[in-house]
Amino acid sequence: SSRPQSMSLMSQCGEEQIAGEYNKHYVTLKQIGKGAYGCVKMAYRRSDRLLAVAKFILKEKVGAAFWTEAPDGRRLPLELSLLMTLEHPNIVRVIDVFENEKYFQMVMEKHGAGMDLFEFIERRPRLDEPLLSYIFRQIGQAVEYLHCHNILHRDIKDENVIIDNKFHVKLIDFGSATYMSKDTLFSTFYGTTEYCSPEVLAGNKYAGPELEMWSMGITLYVLTFLVNPFSDIEDIIQGPLTLPQIVSEDLDQLLRWMLCKDPIHRCSVAQLMAHPWIRQPVAINNYVFQDIVDCDRHEANPEMYFSGSLGSPRSGSLVSLADPLAKERSNPSELV
Ligand code: ADP
Ligand code: MG
Ligand code: MG
Repeated sequence: SSRPQSMSLMSQCGEEQIAGEYNKHYVTLKQIGKGAYGCVKMAYRRSDRLLAVAKFILKEKVGAAFWTEAPDGRRLPLELSLLMTLEHPNIVRVIDVFENEKYFQMVMEKHGAGMDLFEFIERRPRLDEPLLSYIFRQIGQAVEYLHCHNILHRDIKDENVIIDNKFHVKLIDFGSATYMSKDTLFSTFYGTTEYCSPEVLAGNKYAGPELEMWSMGITLYVLTFLVNPFSDIEDIIQGPLTLPQIVSEDLDQLLRWMLCKDPIHRCSVAQLMAHPWIRQPVAINNYVFQDIVDCDRHEANPEMYFSGSLGSPRSGSLVSLADPLAKERSNPSELV
């Protein structure tokens, strides 16, 4: 199946993307994932071989509403300045930022094996409700943190969440994000149609959090049933919500609350985080990643292939002196 695309999706990047100071500090590797993203590539730092992910942002594609001024007067894409200031265990960390004439080069930590939830779901994971709750509550924590700081992500969906082999997830892709304020309503939607709420698709202005909660609801539904709840725009606006399998009463109620067509009555992030289904106990150490989802040995145990501390705050995964880099050049699908 193909990935639904955000309206803000960047076009293909050229060879000019790596030019400049960035290239002095990083070696750029293959495209990430199945190669659908010309603008996101694996890279490693020349000084210490820290393995990272580089996103190349074409300046001319950054919309007028998506620029901001840094404290030093420099003009930066909002995506960059937001990610540089945010600090949360469930939001991807930026390591370095460079720019040349045409591109910003944002270097991010590489989280786990770099698997996003779209790919995770495609592999049909065998999730029970406590594990599902554990994964989803982390997205909730990230969104709660954002909303508390008056930030809207606006493109919450499976492929904008990455997961590691400890089921630790992080939110990425702030390319549609913006600041919100109490008395400003938005009229343009920038996210992904499949995850857009019925009232916004119907053309109404929106404050923001209620739209975000709908996309969270779609994400939870897809994680639960591994299928999309609605077939098209008409169905999102008009269609009844059906649950293809029986789930617990708490999850049933939460899904219906998050996917409530009336934004006034839709669950807020505070209500989500207080919900008994989200707060249920989970014995996370009892779950083994490769038992839940089919994966290769690198995805199951990236720490065996990369030396260094994967989860520690100031260092990402370090490229080891062993074979993974050589393998990555010859066979990207094996590693990435
Ligand atoms: P776009 O704005 O084009 O959607 P994203 O920032 O979402 O770009 O990145 C595209 C894809 O690259 C993601 O869906 C994910 O699979 C992968 N990716 C991006 N950043 C990271 C990261 N820091 N670690 C691992 N994978 C990432
Ligand atoms: Mg994305
Ligand atoms: Mg984006």
